[in-house]
Amino acid sequence: MFLLLGEKVKTKSQQIGTHRCAVCKSDQVFTEQAESLWFTLFGLSVLPLEDRAHYWRCENCLTAYKPRELDLPSSVPILKDVIVYLLLGYDQQEQRALADEICTKLTGFDFPESEVQALSQEIASGRLNVAELVRRHASSLNAIGKQQVVEGAFLTTYACCDIEYEDRLRINQIGSALDVGLEFVTYAIDEARKQQNYGTRRLPDIRAEV
Ligand SMILES: [Zn+2]
Repeated sequence: MFLLLGEKVKTKSQQIGTHRCAVCKSDQVFTEQAESLWFTLFGLSVLPLEDRAHYWRCENCLTAYKPRELDLPSSVPILKDVIVYLLLGYDQQEQRALADEICTKLTGFDFPESEVQALSQEIASGRLNVAELVRRHASSLNAIGKQQVVEGAFLTTYACCDIEYEDRLRINQIGSALDVGLEFVTYAIDEARKQQNYGTRRLPDIRAEV
């Protein structure tokens, strides 16, 4: 007998009332979004395989938040980790103003110098594995949040070096940890370029050792 097997992503969305959105700075209608991967047989979903995404979303600006954590969009902490991780890789961890500039331009939320410094120490000491962290928290991001993180990875890399093969590969790896394909990474980079890289300037004295 011929069996038609496959997989499909199912999305569930339900209204969860009004909450304060940190981006809109006002009360807005929120939904809870849940995506799961299902095993299909002849096109029918028969078995849930894994939960892919779970977050709360403001229906006005479409920002995703971790459920019940509405102080900060879910993309902001991940973006901060990625910026600091890349700065460390290019030995530019003292560029705290750059870290703040990129975070603020992409998300509207600042990245105080003391926080950049603390995170640098934590990541440098190996207590934080960024790829692992990104992978673990990717499920609380939607496409908008993932785009911010990829754009942030690109802008940080752009500021630190002339982007060559291995630099682009590192951005692709961050995309992969976010569970997005190469087309998505290319799209996000193109969007940043369309915005003239948000005015991000190259650091003087590049190219640093990686
Ligand atoms: Zn909002």
